[in-house]
Amino acid sequence: HAKEKGNRYLFFNKEMNKQAVKRLQVENLIRQGLKEDYFHVYYQPKMSFSTGKLVGMEALVRFISPSGTLVSPGTFIPISEETGQVVEIGEVVLRKACADMKRWIDSGLMSGRVAVNLSARQFNLPNLIHRIESILLETGLSPNNLELEITEGTVMDDPQHAIQVMHELRALGIQLAMDDFGTGYSSLSYLRKFPLNTLKIDKAFVDDAGTSVGRAMIDTIITIARNLSLSTVAEGVETSTQEKLMAEMGCDVLQGYLYSKPLSSKELAHFAANQQPV
Ligand code: C2E
Ligand code: CA
Ligand code: CA
Ligand code: CA
Repeated sequence: HAKEKGNRYLFFNKEMNKQAVKRLQVENLIRQGLKEDYFHVYYQPKMSFSTGKLVGMEALVRFISPSGTLVSPGTFIPISEETGQVVEIGEVVLRKACADMKRWIDSGLMSGRVAVNLSARQFNLPNLIHRIESILLETGLSPNNLELEITEGTVMDDPQHAIQVMHELRALGIQLAMDDFGTGYSSLSYLRKFPLNTLKIDKAFVDDAGTSVGRAMIDTIITIARNLSLSTVAEGVETSTQEKLMAEMGCDVLQGYLYSKPLSSKELAHFAANQQPV
Protein backbone atom coordinates (compact mmCIF):
# COMPACT_ATOMS: atom_id res chain seq x y z
CA HIS A 1 0.00 0.00 0.00
CA ALA A 2 2.76 2.35 1.02
CA LYS A 3 4.52 1.55 -2.21
CA GLU A 4 1.46 2.45 -4.22
CA LYS A 5 1.22 5.77 -2.44
CA GLY A 6 4.87 6.42 -3.15
CA ASN A 7 4.39 5.68 -6.80
CA ARG A 8 1.45 7.98 -7.03
CA TYR A 9 3.50 10.72 -5.43
CA LEU A 10 6.24 10.15 -7.96
CA PHE A 11 3.73 10.17 -10.75
CA PHE A 12 2.23 13.48 -9.68
CA ASN A 13 5.66 14.93 -9.16
CA LYS A 14 6.60 14.04 -12.70
CA GLU A 15 3.39 15.29 -14.18
CA MET A 16 3.39 18.58 -12.43
CA ASN A 17 4.98 21.01 -14.77
CA LYS A 18 6.90 24.01 -13.59
CA GLN A 19 3.85 26.18 -14.02
CA ALA A 20 1.72 24.15 -11.66
CA VAL A 21 4.46 24.19 -9.02
CA LYS A 22 4.78 27.93 -9.41
CA ARG A 23 1.01 28.27 -9.02
CA LEU A 24 1.03 26.32 -5.79
CA GLN A 25 3.93 28.38 -4.48
CA VAL A 26 2.12 31.58 -5.32
CA GLU A 27 -1.10 30.32 -3.75
CA ASN A 28 0.77 29.49 -0.54
CA LEU A 29 2.57 32.83 -0.57
CA ILE A 30 -0.76 34.62 -0.96
CA ARG A 31 -2.23 32.69 1.98
CA GLN A 32 0.77 33.63 4.12
CA GLY A 33 0.64 37.22 2.87
CA LEU A 34 -3.00 37.61 3.83
CA LYS A 35 -2.28 36.22 7.29
CA GLU A 36 0.80 38.34 7.88
CA ASP A 37 -0.21 41.54 6.11
CA TYR A 38 2.21 41.51 3.18
CA PHE A 39 -0.25 43.20 0.84
CA HIS A 40 0.40 46.91 0.49
CA VAL A 41 -1.25 49.56 -1.60
CA TYR A 42 0.70 51.81 -3.95
CA TYR A 43 -0.83 54.81 -5.67
CA GLN A 44 -0.29 56.08 -9.17
CA PRO A 45 -1.24 59.76 -9.71
CA LYS A 46 -3.78 60.71 -12.37
CA MET A 47 -3.21 64.14 -13.88
CA SER A 48 -5.60 66.54 -15.59
CA PHE A 49 -3.93 67.70 -18.78
CA SER A 50 -5.74 71.07 -18.89
CA THR A 51 -4.88 72.12 -15.32
CA GLY A 52 -1.73 70.04 -14.88
CA LYS A 53 -3.09 69.04 -11.49
CA LEU A 54 -3.41 65.83 -9.58
CA VAL A 55 -7.06 64.74 -9.83
CA GLY A 56 -6.86 61.36 -8.18
CA MET A 57 -4.89 58.17 -8.17
CA GLU A 58 -5.19 54.48 -8.87
CA ALA A 59 -4.61 52.04 -6.02
CA LEU A 60 -2.35 49.17 -7.12
CA VAL A 61 -1.65 46.20 -4.87
CA ARG A 62 1.92 45.17 -4.02
CA PHE A 63 3.08 41.99 -2.31
CA ILE A 64 6.06 42.80 -0.12
CA SER A 65 7.24 40.20 2.41
CA PRO A 66 9.68 41.19 5.18
CA SER A 67 12.30 38.93 3.56
CA GLY A 68 11.98 41.11 0.47
CA THR A 69 10.03 38.68 -1.70
CA LEU A 70 8.24 40.64 -4.39
CA VAL A 71 5.52 39.10 -6.52
CA SER A 72 4.01 41.16 -9.31
CA PRO A 73 0.22 41.57 -9.35
CA GLY A 74 0.42 40.52 -12.99
CA THR A 75 1.30 37.08 -11.58
CA PHE A 76 -0.70 36.78 -8.38
CA ILE A 77 -3.92 38.54 -9.40
CA PRO A 78 -4.77 36.05 -12.19
CA ILE A 79 -3.88 33.10 -9.91
CA SER A 80 -5.84 34.52 -6.99
CA GLU A 81 -8.77 35.12 -9.32
CA GLU A 82 -8.80 31.37 -9.97
CA THR A 83 -8.35 30.32 -6.34
CA GLY A 84 -10.83 32.89 -5.06
CA GLN A 85 -8.20 34.58 -2.86
CA VAL A 86 -8.65 37.75 -4.92
CA VAL A 87 -11.78 38.51 -2.90
CA GLU A 88 -9.80 38.82 0.32
CA ILE A 89 -6.89 40.63 -1.37
CA GLY A 90 -9.35 43.03 -2.97
CA GLU A 91 -10.91 43.85 0.36
CA VAL A 92 -7.56 44.48 1.98
CA VAL A 93 -6.76 46.89 -0.86
CA LEU A 94 -10.15 48.61 -0.71
CA ARG A 95 -9.95 49.03 3.07
CA LYS A 96 -6.41 50.44 2.98
CA ALA A 97 -7.13 52.70 0.00
CA CYS A 98 -10.26 54.13 1.64
CA ALA A 99 -8.46 54.67 4.95
CA ASP A 100 -5.49 56.42 3.28
CA MET A 101 -7.75 58.59 1.12
CA LYS A 102 -9.86 59.59 4.15
CA ARG A 103 -6.69 60.71 5.98
CA TRP A 104 -5.44 62.68 2.97
CA ILE A 105 -8.78 64.41 2.48
CA ASP A 106 -9.09 65.28 6.18
CA SER A 107 -5.59 66.76 6.21
CA GLY A 108 -6.35 68.84 3.10
CA LEU A 109 -3.68 67.06 1.10
CA MET A 110 -5.94 65.50 -1.50
CA SER A 111 -9.30 65.85 -3.13
CA GLY A 112 -10.80 63.93 -6.01
CA ARG A 113 -11.04 60.19 -6.08
CA VAL A 114 -9.09 57.10 -5.32
CA ALA A 115 -9.69 54.40 -7.94
CA VAL A 116 -9.64 50.79 -6.81
CA ASN A 117 -9.58 47.80 -9.16
CA LEU A 118 -12.48 45.42 -8.66
CA SER A 119 -11.99 41.82 -9.79
CA ALA A 120 -14.69 39.74 -11.49
CA ARG A 121 -14.96 37.52 -8.41
CA GLN A 122 -15.60 40.53 -6.20
CA PHE A 123 -18.03 42.06 -8.65
CA ASN A 124 -20.09 38.87 -8.67
CA LEU A 125 -20.32 38.48 -4.90
CA PRO A 126 -24.00 38.44 -3.89
CA ASN A 127 -23.30 40.80 -0.98
CA LEU A 128 -20.88 43.13 -2.83
CA ILE A 129 -22.84 46.30 -2.09
CA HIS A 130 -23.05 45.51 1.60
CA ARG A 131 -19.33 44.73 1.80
CA ILE A 132 -18.38 47.99 0.13
CA GLU A 133 -20.80 49.99 2.24
CA SER A 134 -19.31 48.55 5.43
CA ILE A 135 -15.77 49.41 4.37
CA LEU A 136 -16.88 52.98 3.61
CA LEU A 137 -18.59 53.21 7.00
CA GLU A 138 -15.62 51.67 8.79
CA THR A 139 -13.11 54.05 7.19
CA GLY A 140 -15.38 57.10 7.04
CA LEU A 141 -14.61 57.78 3.38
CA SER A 142 -17.39 59.39 1.38
CA PRO A 143 -18.51 57.28 -1.60
CA ASN A 144 -17.98 60.43 -3.68
CA ASN A 145 -14.25 60.00 -3.18
CA LEU A 146 -14.23 56.44 -4.46
CA GLU A 147 -14.08 55.12 -8.00
CA LEU A 148 -14.07 51.47 -9.01
CA GLU A 149 -12.29 50.18 -12.11
CA ILE A 150 -13.88 47.16 -13.74
CA THR A 151 -12.91 45.38 -16.94
CA GLU A 152 -14.99 44.50 -19.97
CA GLY A 153 -14.62 40.80 -19.18
CA THR A 154 -16.18 41.32 -15.76
CA VAL A 155 -19.30 43.04 -17.04
CA MET A 156 -19.77 41.10 -20.30
CA ASP A 157 -19.97 37.78 -18.48
CA ASP A 158 -23.58 38.51 -17.49
CA PRO A 159 -24.38 42.01 -18.77
CA GLN A 160 -27.91 42.18 -17.37
CA HIS A 161 -26.70 41.36 -13.88
CA ALA A 162 -23.76 43.73 -14.31
CA ILE A 163 -26.03 46.62 -15.23
CA GLN A 164 -28.02 46.09 -12.03
CA VAL A 165 -24.91 45.91 -9.82
CA MET A 166 -23.47 48.99 -11.50
CA HIS A 167 -26.67 50.93 -10.86
CA GLU A 168 -26.52 49.95 -7.18
CA LEU A 169 -22.91 51.14 -6.92
CA ARG A 170 -23.78 54.41 -8.65
CA ALA A 171 -26.74 54.87 -6.31
CA LEU A 172 -24.27 54.80 -3.40
CA GLY A 173 -22.38 57.68 -5.06
CA ILE A 174 -19.43 55.62 -6.27
CA GLN A 175 -18.02 56.36 -9.73
CA LEU A 176 -17.34 53.63 -12.26
CA ALA A 177 -14.61 53.33 -14.86
CA MET A 178 -14.27 50.73 -17.59
CA ASP A 179 -10.65 49.58 -17.35
CA ASP A 180 -8.41 48.52 -20.25
CA PHE A 181 -11.10 49.65 -22.65
CA GLY A 182 -10.76 48.29 -26.16
CA THR A 183 -8.85 45.14 -25.23
CA GLY A 184 -11.89 43.06 -24.32
CA TYR A 185 -15.01 42.22 -26.18
CA SER A 186 -17.62 44.60 -24.85
CA SER A 187 -20.30 45.40 -27.36
CA LEU A 188 -21.21 48.95 -28.18
CA SER A 189 -24.90 48.28 -27.61
CA TYR A 190 -24.16 47.27 -24.01
CA LEU A 191 -21.70 50.07 -23.45
CA ARG A 192 -24.63 52.45 -23.80
CA LYS A 193 -26.56 50.64 -21.07
CA PHE A 194 -23.72 50.45 -18.55
CA PRO A 195 -23.95 53.36 -16.08
CA LEU A 196 -20.27 54.30 -16.40
CA ASN A 197 -18.52 57.61 -15.72
CA THR A 198 -15.20 56.95 -17.41
CA LEU A 199 -13.44 54.94 -20.09
CA LYS A 200 -9.81 54.08 -19.41
CA ILE A 201 -7.92 53.76 -22.68
CA ASP A 202 -5.56 50.80 -22.45
CA LYS A 203 -1.82 51.31 -22.58
CA ALA A 204 -1.64 49.24 -25.77
CA PHE A 205 -3.44 52.06 -27.63
CA VAL A 206 -1.35 54.77 -26.00
CA ASP A 207 1.78 52.87 -27.12
CA ASP A 208 0.50 53.11 -30.71
CA ALA A 209 -0.52 56.78 -30.50
CA GLY A 210 2.31 57.66 -32.89
CA THR A 211 0.97 55.53 -35.76
CA SER A 212 -1.95 56.55 -37.95
CA VAL A 213 -3.87 53.35 -37.16
CA GLY A 214 -3.23 53.85 -33.45
CA ARG A 215 -4.42 57.44 -33.65
CA ALA A 216 -7.58 56.38 -35.45
CA MET A 217 -8.34 53.83 -32.72
CA ILE A 218 -7.85 56.37 -29.92
CA ASP A 219 -9.91 58.94 -31.82
CA THR A 220 -12.69 56.37 -32.12
CA ILE A 221 -12.62 55.53 -28.41
CA ILE A 222 -12.68 59.22 -27.45
CA THR A 223 -15.57 59.84 -29.86
CA ILE A 224 -17.54 56.96 -28.33
CA ALA A 225 -16.84 58.33 -24.85
CA ARG A 226 -17.98 61.84 -25.87
CA ASN A 227 -21.19 60.51 -27.36
CA LEU A 228 -21.94 58.64 -24.16
CA SER A 229 -20.90 61.66 -21.99
CA LEU A 230 -18.07 59.68 -20.43
CA SER A 231 -14.72 61.09 -19.42
CA THR A 232 -11.50 59.49 -20.68
CA VAL A 233 -8.32 58.48 -18.92
CA ALA A 234 -5.23 57.31 -20.81
CA GLU A 235 -3.08 54.79 -18.97
CA GLY A 236 0.60 54.08 -19.52
CA VAL A 237 1.63 57.53 -20.79
CA GLU A 238 5.42 57.36 -20.86
CA THR A 239 6.60 60.11 -23.22
CA SER A 240 5.79 63.75 -23.78
CA THR A 241 5.03 62.85 -27.41
CA GLN A 242 2.29 60.50 -26.20
CA GLU A 243 1.08 63.18 -23.79
CA LYS A 244 0.83 65.72 -26.59
CA LEU A 245 -0.99 63.33 -28.92
CA MET A 246 -3.46 62.19 -26.23
CA ALA A 247 -4.19 65.77 -25.19
CA GLU A 248 -4.68 66.85 -28.81
CA MET A 249 -7.20 64.08 -29.28
CA GLY A 250 -9.08 65.37 -26.24
CA CYS A 251 -8.22 62.88 -23.53
CA ASP A 252 -9.13 64.43 -20.16
CA VAL A 253 -6.91 62.66 -17.67
CA LEU A 254 -3.48 61.11 -18.10
CA GLN A 255 -1.70 58.48 -16.04
CA GLY A 256 1.71 56.91 -16.53
CA TYR A 257 5.41 56.87 -15.79
CA LEU A 258 5.76 60.31 -17.43
CA TYR A 259 4.13 61.78 -14.31
CA SER A 260 4.92 59.14 -11.74
CA LYS A 261 5.28 55.44 -11.17
CA PRO A 262 3.01 53.93 -8.49
CA LEU A 263 4.08 55.36 -5.11
CA SER A 264 3.93 54.14 -1.53
CA SER A 265 1.43 56.02 0.64
CA LYS A 266 4.27 58.07 2.10
CA GLU A 267 5.66 58.96 -1.32
CA LEU A 268 2.17 59.80 -2.60
CA ALA A 269 1.71 62.23 0.28
CA HIS A 270 4.96 63.98 -0.75
CA PHE A 271 3.86 64.03 -4.38
CA ALA A 272 0.50 65.57 -3.45
CA ALA A 273 2.11 68.13 -1.12
CA ASN A 274 4.40 69.31 -3.93
CA GLN A 275 1.33 69.80 -6.13
CA GLN A 276 -0.11 72.49 -3.88
CA PRO A 277 0.29 75.98 -5.31
CA VAL A 278 2.81 77.94 -3.18
P1 C2E B 1 -4.08 47.81 -14.69
O1 C2E B 1 -5.31 47.97 -13.87
O2 C2E B 1 -4.20 48.03 -16.15
O3 C2E B 1 -3.01 48.78 -14.04
C1 C2E B 1 -2.06 49.50 -14.77
C2 C2E B 1 -0.72 48.81 -14.75
O4 C2E B 1 0.18 49.52 -15.59
C3 C2E B 1 -0.04 48.80 -13.38
O5 C2E B 1 0.73 47.60 -13.28
C4 C2E B 1 0.86 50.02 -13.45
O6 C2E B 1 1.94 49.97 -12.54
C5 C2E B 1 1.32 49.92 -14.87
N1 C2E B 1 1.74 51.22 -15.42
C6 C2E B 1 1.27 52.44 -15.13
N2 C2E B 1 1.85 53.40 -15.86
C7 C2E B 1 2.72 52.75 -16.68
C8 C2E B 1 3.62 53.21 -17.71
O7 C2E B 1 3.74 54.39 -18.01
N3 C2E B 1 4.34 52.24 -18.34
C9 C2E B 1 4.23 50.91 -18.05
N4 C2E B 1 4.98 50.06 -18.72
N5 C2E B 1 3.38 50.46 -17.09
C10 C2E B 1 2.63 51.38 -16.42
P2 C2E B 1 0.72 46.72 -11.97
O8 C2E B 1 0.66 47.58 -10.77
O9 C2E B 1 1.83 45.73 -12.11
O10 C2E B 1 -0.68 45.97 -12.07
C11 C2E B 1 -0.93 45.04 -13.09
C12 C2E B 1 -2.38 44.65 -13.12
O11 C2E B 1 -2.72 43.92 -11.94
C13 C2E B 1 -3.33 45.84 -13.15
O12 C2E B 1 -3.45 46.32 -14.46
C14 C2E B 1 -4.60 45.19 -12.64
O13 C2E B 1 -5.24 44.48 -13.66
C15 C2E B 1 -4.06 44.21 -11.63
N6 C2E B 1 -4.17 44.80 -10.28
C16 C2E B 1 -3.30 45.59 -9.62
N7 C2E B 1 -3.77 45.88 -8.39
C17 C2E B 1 -4.96 45.27 -8.27
C18 C2E B 1 -5.95 45.20 -7.23
O14 C2E B 1 -5.83 45.78 -6.14
N8 C2E B 1 -7.06 44.44 -7.48
C19 C2E B 1 -7.23 43.78 -8.68
N9 C2E B 1 -8.35 43.06 -8.85
N10 C2E B 1 -6.34 43.85 -9.67
C20 C2E B 1 -5.21 44.58 -9.48
CA1 CA C 1 -6.83 49.50 -13.40
CA1 CA D 1 -5.85 49.57 -16.78
CA1 CA E 1 -3.82 47.88 -18.89
